This record gives sequence, C-alpha cells and structure tokens, in this order.
Amino acid sequence: MNELKLSPTGVIRYETCPKQALFYLQGYRTEAKADALIFGSVVHDVLAGYHAGTVPPDQLGAAWDQKWSAAIAQPIAYGADRSPDGLRQTGAALFSAYHDVWQATGLRTVTDDQGPCVERRLFVRLPRAQVLFEGVIDLVATREGPPAIIDHKSPGAKPDPSFPEKSDQLLAYQALFDANAPLHGLGPAAQIGFAALVKRAVPKTSRGTGPEVLPPHLVERRSAAEVAEYWEKVADTASAMRAGSFRRRSLAEHNSPCKLCEYEAACWRNDFTGLTRGQDRTLDL
Ligand code: SF4
Repeated sequence: MNELKLSPTGVIRYETCPKQALFYLQGYRTEAKADALIFGSVVHDVLAGYHAGTVPPDQLGAAWDQKWSAAIAQPIAYGADRSPDGLRQTGAALFSAYHDVWQATGLRTVTDDQGPCVERRLFVRLPRAQVLFEGVIDLVATREGPPAIIDHKSPGAKPDPSFPEKSDQLLAYQALFDANAPLHGLGPAAQIGFAALVKRAVPKTSRGTGPEVLPPHLVERRSAAEVAEYWEKVADTASAMRAGSFRRRSLAEHNSPCKLCEYEAACWRNDFTGLTRGQDRTLDL
C-alpha cells in the first residue's frame, strides 16, 4: 500500500463531495481560476512577507500592486460584479489599513530556530492509515504567551463569528502544530482562529461599507477528544479513497455543493471543456 498524501483541504473536499475529490485527484483543474482564489493567494503572499518582516509596513500597498499585476496575467474567471481593477482597488484599501489593525491587536509573529512562523509547512505521518498528512499554517503569533494559530481569509462578507469553534481546518492546524511541538519547541497552540480581510468593493460614494480588515478572531484550543476524532476522520477518508468510494454527493437544492463545483459540467454532462489534466494521483491510492 502506497503512502497517501492528504491535507486539511483534501479531507474537506472529500467530505464536500467524494466525486469532486476524485476529479481533483485525477489532476483536473480549471484553465481559468476563480478570481476569489487568485485574490486570496495574492493576499496570502503579501501578508506572508509582512509577517516575516520582508515587506515593511509602508511597502504593503506597493507589494500588493506589484503581485496583483503579476497574478492577473494568467487566465482568471471573474464574477459578474468583479474586475481586475475593482479588485486591485479593494486590495489597495485592505493593505492601507492592515498595519494599523495588526498593531492594535498586540500580537506579534512567533519566531523559532527556522525563522518567523509564517506559511509553515508541517507534516504528520499516520503509520496505521499509511497517510502523510500535511498542511501550511499561515501565521503563528503571540501576545508574549503561548502561541496562537492564525489562518488568513479574504471573504466577500463578514465571517460567521461562531465558525472558528467548528472549523475542521483550524482543528487540523492545531493537531499538526501540536504533533510537531518537539520540532518547533514552541509548545502546544493555546488559541486558533481566522483573520479576515473582507474584500467588499470600494464604494463609489461616501456611503456604504467598503473593504475591511478585521482583527484575528481567536478561540480556545480544541479538546484532545476532538483532535483524536479528527485523526480518525483522516484515516477513514484515506481508507474510503483506497476502497474507490467516490460517489456523487449533490445533497438538497438549498445546500448542494454542485452550485460551486468547478467539475459540474464534467460530472453531469461529461463535458470537460475548460479543464486541464495534470498528474493523476489516483495511482497513489
Ligand atoms: S457537480 Fe456535484 S456531484 Fe458532481 S462532483 Fe461536483 S459537487 Fe460532486
């Protein structure tokens, strides 16, 4: 049995719809990525530089502008009310506010012997399930106490404040971080949470709420029982994948994952237009 690589996102993708996970594992990707994906990835990149100390506060706007210009050279599928220039303005507004919001939190980036804990890739081997579980933690920060794990998001609206307590992604990062404690030597994470840069459009008049940087919303670490249950879920996901269980999961109309699925045409009409094919990872199963 080959070792299977899984990530927090991979587990969520399988839970969302096993068939969607199969298309992904088979290497299918959209030719034009969604604007939200590109926007989020440039935001992550700029924030990584800022928190690692390579992008000074007064260069945040310039870093955003330069990276956004480079990113939009690729094919991007823009939503109905979004454009490259509109999103550029949104990013500029977010990064003109970011430093002050961050300073006011009293948090600072944690550093270990590998440097600032930014975009830190961590691994855990689950030998019984033959899984290599890996995830990238955006930021580890502290207020001169135990560390907190922060994941950056760039949603279109204010996030649900109750979600960090339920998020599998944050639970997975906590589990990964704690399992690597002997390596990084920072001890277990005390808190976990999301920091949202809300990418509303810049309003055309003085009325209306535009882009908004929210301070990290941190919650207490999850219990050992929840962590154990999560590792069981990872093992179960691997074993279902190995068993070839990749059924469609369209759910009900009001909560169907098909609405946002980039494989909808391929799945229901065998139409693979707009998809490219990369490395087939089902061979690892
Ligand atoms: S279209 Fe629906 S059923 Fe098909 S892969 Fe996507 S989410 Fe799954």
